[in-house]
Amino acid sequence: MTFQPLIMHIDGLCRESNLSGALPATDELIRIDQAVGQGFKAKNLDKDVRTIQESLNQISPKQGGPKDKLKVDGICGPRTNKAIQDFQLKQFGLKGMDGLIEPGKQTIQRINQILFSNLPIDPSIPEQIRVQLLSHINLVSRSIHAAQTNLLLAMAPSSGLDLGGGRANDRLDRHFALGAQKGTARDQTIRQIQGVFTMFANALLMPGALGTGAFEMDPSGDPRIAFTFANGFFRNGEIDEARNIRRDRIFLGRRAFFALSDSELCAFIMLHEMAHFVGFPGGSFILDNGRGWFTDSTISKLSADQRLHNADSYATFAVECRTGNSAKPPYVKAATTSR
Ligand SMILES: [Zn+2]
Repeated sequence: MTFQPLIMHIDGLCRESNLSGALPATDELIRIDQAVGQGFKAKNLDKDVRTIQESLNQISPKQGGPKDKLKVDGICGPRTNKAIQDFQLKQFGLKGMDGLIEPGKQTIQRINQILFSNLPIDPSIPEQIRVQLLSHINLVSRSIHAAQTNLLLAMAPSSGLDLGGGRANDRLDRHFALGAQKGTARDQTIRQIQGVFTMFANALLMPGALGTGAFEMDPSGDPRIAFTFANGFFRNGEIDEARNIRRDRIFLGRRAFFALSDSELCAFIMLHEMAHFVGFPGGSFILDNGRGWFTDSTISKLSADQRLHNADSYATFAVECRTGNSAKPPYVKAATTSR
């Protein structure tokens, strides 16, 4: 039984680690592969431009961030170029204002220093956080409901009336690789997945400090994205003495999670964390066997059993059930775990 929290790092993978003292070096936090901005060195890869747009949006105007948030579209147009220059001007003066952000160089390092510093936070932030969380939780709740409906449809006996059971089963096959399972074995697996989503729904009803289920703002100031305890759902009222935090909570990072402006991405992270938090019926853990959409090689190589114990499988399944769209959303990132 593990008592270390599972912490989602900047690369999106959750690992068991301690809250403080294990922070990655600041220049490892936000990464781009190729230069972004103006000039012949700028490659402006879609994902790199998005990283920069998202990062600059998290920086306050008094530190050189854009006054009006940039559209996160992966296109390095005039507004993004101006935002890069404004940030450099504010941070480094005229001589540092070349309009170019290169991997590992001073501008990206400064962005990381600002976003991931452990300076005390503004006391007005908890109220903003509550408001933000309430808007994300609506998407989370709708995703859970859509998943539950899909699971009921998948179990419904074929009666001549097409309720969408075929499509519902296709979704299960895509996200959980249940294609080889038939008959009662398949029904049993579907009931287990239902059990997971029943626990998701219950986790939303837990009386949390923010009034929104098991979710709470990270009390430690650890800047990583989110963390929870595996099967924390069943650790009702337990306190982690060493860290002075409850084990029956999902903690969202004050600087990383709440700096994200994309509600879809936030809801996705919350669904992912909920899977770790509730675990699989019978008590086994749901960990990270791979991150990504079912079309990513990080996921497609996983067996049904690995996917049933993989947090992203539940998050991606719930997202597709809600949207009805099987195409990979832009905020889902593939990553391989070293587990
Ligand atoms: Zn995880």
